Amino acid sequence: MLPRDTRVPGGIAILDLGTSTDSPGAVYFGEYRAPIVRTPDGWKAIVGIPLATEPGRQVVKLVTPSASDRDREIAFNVEPKAYATQNLTVEARKADPLPEDLKRIDAETERTERALATYTESRSPTWRWTVPVPGERSDSYGKRRVFNGLPRKPHSGMDIAAPTGTPIRNPAAGRVVETGDFFFNGNTVFVDHGQGVLTMYCHLSRIDVTSGDVVKEGDVLGLVGATGRVTGPHLHWGVSVNRAMVDPALLLEK
Ligand SMILES: [Zn+2]
Repeated sequence: MLPRDTRVPGGIAILDLGTSTDSPGAVYFGEYRAPIVRTPDGWKAIVGIPLATEPGRQVVKLVTPSASDRDREIAFNVEPKAYATQNLTVEARKADPLPEDLKRIDAETERTERALATYTESRSPTWRWTVPVPGERSDSYGKRRVFNGLPRKPHSGMDIAAPTGTPIRNPAAGRVVETGDFFFNGNTVFVDHGQGVLTMYCHLSRIDVTSGDVVKEGDVLGLVGATGRVTGPHLHWGVSVNRAMVDPALLLEK
């Protein structure tokens, strides 16, 4: 099973590599390497499309392993998608951080980028997952966000409402690559599923894993909470594919 092919900003494009040889090579979307998967119809690339992508023609590059087989470009079309605006009220400092918060935020942005840049070639992700927490899923992925009247980055994940203390179950096998208490995201866990597919779990009341832990599908990563920039207890779930935070709904069974 593959994710749902949805060629919009924040979506996923499943592209046919036109080969079924044993080693098809590496696929790049911009500078980032995308995961590939072997199917009965040959190899396919699973390409994350960043929210900021302009609609229109895009290309990935297939870098082939042998000199006799030339590198190729594979084109696809990104359709426009309009995302609504959402106004939220949070603690003043979380919308408009104090000067002393900015240093912390910069350091945490760097840690986050480093975690999401993990690329483990030897691990292959699975592609259809169970939801990490039962509960009401908001459809707020991609919404432009205004906190206390201040425009901020669009929402790049799925929010699932659940009471504080609800266990968060790892949706697919992987390895924990980073955990910590972040200014905006609160207590956070990052899991590497292989080939540039990473997930993040934010606002936890408790973290139950440490960096380096190998985690199976269904293992508890921590508990739902309301830490960081929140309006109430919920799980913020982010899914990164070739460094693009895509809509997690595209990977869920239903
Ligand atoms: Zn969220």
